[in-house]
Parts: sequence; structure tokens; C-alpha cells
Amino acid sequence: MSRETFKPKILIIGCGLAGLSLAAILEHAKIPYELFDKAKELRPLGSAISIGPAVMPMFTQLGIMEQVQAKGKLMTESFLTNEKLELLTHLDFHTEAVERPALQGILLSLIPKHKIHLNKRVLSFCETGEGVMIRTSDNKTHHGNILVGADGPYSSVRQTMYQKMDKEGKLPSVDKKPFKYSTICLVGQTYPLDEATYAHVEDDVCRYEMVICDDRPLCCCTFTTAEKTVCWMVFEILDQESNDKNDNFRSTEWGPEAAESMCNQVRNLRLRENLVLGDLIDKTPKNVICKVMLEEKIFKSWVYGRTVLIGDGNDLHGQVLRKVMHNMPLKLWHLVRDEVSAYRPQISFLPLVEDRGTKGPAKQPSLKKTQV
Ligand SMILES: Cc1cc2nc3c(=O)[nH]c(=O)nc-3n(C[C@H](O)[C@H](O)[C@H](O)COP(=O)(O)OP(=O)(O)OC[C@H]3O[C@@H](n4cnc5c(N)ncnc54)[C@H](O)[C@@H]3O)c2cc1C
Repeated sequence: MSRETFKPKILIIGCGLAGLSLAAILEHAKIPYELFDKAKELRPLGSAISIGPAVMPMFTQLGIMEQVQAKGKLMTESFLTNEKLELLTHLDFHTEAVERPALQGILLSLIPKHKIHLNKRVLSFCETGEGVMIRTSDNKTHHGNILVGADGPYSSVRQTMYQKMDKEGKLPSVDKKPFKYSTICLVGQTYPLDEATYAHVEDDVCRYEMVICDDRPLCCCTFTTAEKTVCWMVFEILDQESNDKNDNFRSTEWGPEAAESMCNQVRNLRLRENLVLGDLIDKTPKNVICKVMLEEKIFKSWVYGRTVLIGDGNDLHGQVLRKVMHNMPLKLWHLVRDEVSAYRPQISFLPLVEDRGTKGPAKQPSLKKTQV
């Protein structure tokens, strides 16, 4: 096969939103790939995700932006208050609030089932001249040309890749430092509510509210969805002591089991006149509540040899939340919003779509390279 027609086979480890998004792109571009996940089934977990300008062009290229809009609700403003319900900040922007499980479903619908291999924990991998080989927990091996670690914040692909880089003296010192676990996030989604129970739940646009506590390192965000449900997320910023207490949680699986005691701790958080978080928790099916750790690190090294890291395996968040909790001034909010909305990358090997921003997008080096 000539160099021009050769298509590398991609092995993707992890069927989270990052792995599924990449698989959808490769499917669209007719590039061979296979997905592997240690989970026995892909559970629709989580609350709402905001789909902003950074992913809108990609979803348009994949032909799913209309589906996402149909499942989502336009979000044009947010209201930030303290627990006394005094308004701290009101911010305007333009994103789509979509239930995380709905987004997972849309991405999954683009990927043929036979390319997804569940119950396959990847134990090790190695590079073999022309390609890569992975060994999975069922003692099988799989071969490809490029390995993508989309295996989440505790990425074993990243750990193995970094060990190799370190041995060869190529790991930057910043990537040798352990990452900080800065934030715990508890998420859930109520069953459909009516206007009398939760005002604005039937509005055409998403009602996004954030309550920041004065005396506890907690904040809570609520979004209304197209299905008339309320997605809620509580963030607890950890200090050293609370960080140590949560040490065991890191090594456990995500799921409803881990969430119950945190639900009890945050029940009395005041969201509106006559409404506390406990009221929403009680209207949420137990099996969709989950507890997630957010960390604070952007790794510098994301590619080495034939191995690439994407998603939370490479980029961990928490920093912005920490600033929010310290009452970020409006000017800074605007700066973040403008920076984030200027970042509108397109998949350089698919036909490009019209950029719909009012200001030009930030430079995308990969686009330049592919076009050359
Ligand atoms: C349960 C959960 C709920 C969330 N809810 C929200 C939300 O409501 N709103 C929001 O904005 N963000 C939410 N987030 C955060 C956001 O969705 C993440 O930033 C995003 O999921 C990151 O995607 P990812 O694909 O990089 O990693 P993950 O979603 O963590 O996916 C990694 C995948 O890799 C698999 N894996 C790990 N190790 C191996 C291995 N050795 N072999 C094979 N497979 C492996 C895991 O089983 C997992 O399926 C949530 C995250 C999680 C995990």
C-alpha cells in the first residue's frame, strides 16, 4: 500500500466522552479503529454538560449538532448568588446545555457496536517497530499502529508512557510532579418536574444558577433541561485535610455507592427561597447520582512514539472552579468567556464548516499543518 493510501489502525483505550468522540471522528473519516473499555457496560451517568463554541464546529462537521441542539437547551445567561441568595454576578454567553447521558447516546449511535470491546481492561502495551500491541485482562493481544489513551484521569496509558519517557530521560520535570486532587463533584439529575415545583423548568432557555457558600468550600450549579429535569452538581474544594480523607475514594470505581454520604452532607445547601439541595436530591433517582473527583493539572507531554493521550488522561480541571469559589470578578469572567469562545478548532482532516463566531477563531496550528 502506498504512503498516500495507507490508513493507520487506531486502538483507543477508554469509552468515555473523549474515546467516543475520537471514535466518531475516525468513523466519519473512514479510518480503522477499535475501542476497548474495562467496564462491563457503558452506564449513562452524569448531569448536564455545556456544549460551547469549542466543540460546536466539530459536532457540525460530524453532522450531529442539530441532534445535540434538539436534546439540549440553549443557555444564554447564568446567575451567581451566595447562600443568602444575593446576586454576585450575572453573566451572558451562548452554549447548549445537554444531559451527559444524552450526549453519550448520540456519540454511541455513530459507532458500530462491533468496534466496541467491553470488559477488556488494558493491562499493558508496547511498541513493536511498525505498530503497537496491547494486552487485555482476558489475556488477549490486539495490534494497531497508534495507541490512544482516553482512559480518564488515572490513565494507565499515561503512567506507562511517562515511565518510559522518564527512563529515556525525556519526561519534563513538570510531568513528574504528582497531581493535586482539588475538587470533589457530586452530580445528579431529577426526574421531570413542573413549574410549581421548580420555577423556570419549563422555560425555552436553560436556567443556569450557581450558589456559592460563604462559610463552606462548596458551590452548587443547577441547569434546567429540554426534558424538564434539573441537572445539579455540587463542587467541594478540598484542602489538605479533606483531601487526605478522600484518599481511598480515588482508587474506587465511580458510581452511586460512593455518593450517599456526600448527599447527606450537602442536603441543607440553600438554592432558592424555600428550596434546598435535599429537595432536588429527593427527586433524583438514586442510581444516577455519582461522585467524581476533579483534579488540577494539564500535563505537558501528550504524545510519545506511537502513543497519544486525550481527554481527562491529559487535561485535568479544577483551577477555574477554585477561582469561582474565590468570587471571581466580573471582568475576569468576561476574559475567560472570551478566551474560551475564541477557541473553536475544527477537525483538520474532515471538510471544514463555516465559522459562525462574531469574532474570528483563535489560531489552530494543526489546521495549518494539514492544509500544507
Ligand atoms: C461518572 C462521571 C460523571 C460525570 N458527570 C459530569 C457532568 O455531569 N457534567 C460535566 O460537565 N462533566 C461530568 N463529568 C466529567 C466529564 O464528563 C469528564 O471530563 C469527561 O467524561 C472526561 O472524559 P474522558 O473520556 O477523558 O474520561 P472518562 O469519562 O473518565 O472515561 C475513561 C474511560 O476509560 C476506561 N478505562 C480506564 N482505565 C482503563 C483500562 N486500563 N482499560 C480499559 N478501559 C479503561 C474507563 O472505564 C472509562 O470508561 C463526569 C465524569 C464521570 C467519570
